Amino acid sequence: MGNLTLPLPFDDDKPHEECAVFGVIGHPDAAALAALGLHALQHRGQEGSGIVTYDGKQFHSHKALGLVGDNFGDSDVIAKLPGNAAIGHNRYSTTGETVLRNVQPFFADFDFGGFAVCHNGNLTNSRQLRRELVRRGCIFQSTSDTETIIHLIAVSEQKSLVDRMVDALSQLVGTYSLAALANDSLIGIRDPFGVRPLVLGKLDDAWIFASETCALDIIGATYVRDVEPGELLVIDRDGLHSSRPFEEKPKRFCIFEYIYFARPDSEMEGSNVYAVRERIGRELAREAGVAADLVIPVPDSGVPAALGYAKESGIPYELGIIRNHYVGRTFIEPTDQIRNLGVKLKHNANRCTIQGKRVILVDDSIVRGTTSKKIVEMVRGAGATEVHMRIASPPTTHSCFYGVDTPERSKLLAANNSIAEMARIIGVDSLAFVSIAGVYRAVGGTPRSKDAPQFCDACFTGDYPIPLVDHDGGEMGKQLSFLKQLA
Ligand code: SF4
Repeated sequence: MGNLTLPLPFDDDKPHEECAVFGVIGHPDAAALAALGLHALQHRGQEGSGIVTYDGKQFHSHKALGLVGDNFGDSDVIAKLPGNAAIGHNRYSTTGETVLRNVQPFFADFDFGGFAVCHNGNLTNSRQLRRELVRRGCIFQSTSDTETIIHLIAVSEQKSLVDRMVDALSQLVGTYSLAALANDSLIGIRDPFGVRPLVLGKLDDAWIFASETCALDIIGATYVRDVEPGELLVIDRDGLHSSRPFEEKPKRFCIFEYIYFARPDSEMEGSNVYAVRERIGRELAREAGVAADLVIPVPDSGVPAALGYAKESGIPYELGIIRNHYVGRTFIEPTDQIRNLGVKLKHNANRCTIQGKRVILVDDSIVRGTTSKKIVEMVRGAGATEVHMRIASPPTTHSCFYGVDTPERSKLLAANNSIAEMARIIGVDSLAFVSIAGVYRAVGGTPRSKDAPQFCDACFTGDYPIPLVDHDGGEMGKQLSFLKQLA
């Protein structure tokens, strides 16, 4: 028997967030704070992590594949990262290129000094920009779209760093929340649509940037505010300087952050993620009620919506499925027979709760449907007399191109099957999804309204708010022409 390397988390049937960023300036333990912040943000990327610090004279860097605790848990590693300013990054690889050279932050020596940057998001014109930059003589070290930003800054003819950054970022199409470190300044930027999150925090005299507020909580920092879409914030020894150098765009925060990606204890755009998920569960119960004995979450991500569903419907909530949190990265290579047990590595049905009961399973989303099918089989095997599935998001019919790893459309169950067909494939007695209007009600918005908060909801609607420049003629070409037909 050999070893089989499994992706972390061991679940290829969920979309995966691509990255987390963290930055701090003005604290003597900058590297340790960055390590703690990245640990709190581990759910946003598990392939690799890195920290770059600046000690007033030079930059220091440590990057490695694997989890934050493994990479930065050793005090010797932190001791080699001196300075009162640091940025850090967790990466989720989507291209198969799980190699060290793609782990961020990226660093470059410019004529004005050192510069490090890390990125959460995805540039939809990075291939086009990269082709042009290579033609101009730029030599890329990685396959990451983020490196494009470094080269655009390098070739900019503007004088100051901020002007060069604005020049570079103005050429980007796509989504980006960035933390950057340049000698004595920490810089945080959000793309004009504000698709990916970025918050500002304070700890004594230190300023913090982080993808989510849970990273502020872990270090005892207070949440100051969200970095605004299109805002460029420079923090140096004179304080905080805010500017909005980009063309204003309609705000389009990623609605899937509320549904699945973000940690439930984070606050996003003024709303607590847990509370939003519970409200979605209530909406789901109002829209898709069914007679049953128990409401059971698919843990962990289905828990808050299941609680909301149970409260709204009055049907008792039980933990009928138990999750194993210790599924490691490497597992003994299974035989075919053991491979078929698959899902039980992570989930097991709690027979004494389920036996003889009509159950409602609540999950956050269905992507390929492979895990849902196995969980339903498992719950039936544990003696459930009826299994009804309720999903706390609308059907995922389109891929994400804005920084989240989703399969191509042909692999999305909802893109290719009606709800009745999906119910048959998954093996449930009934299947229902919350409506897009229900999700908007839960987050305090109204779909397609000019007067209420708007979100990116493209994976449910196909309405991509930012052009998909690199995908013309490819898989996305098909999706766009499909959308044109709809229009
Ligand atoms: Fe979020 Fe979906 Fe938009 Fe991607 S397509 S940014 S996952 S809402």
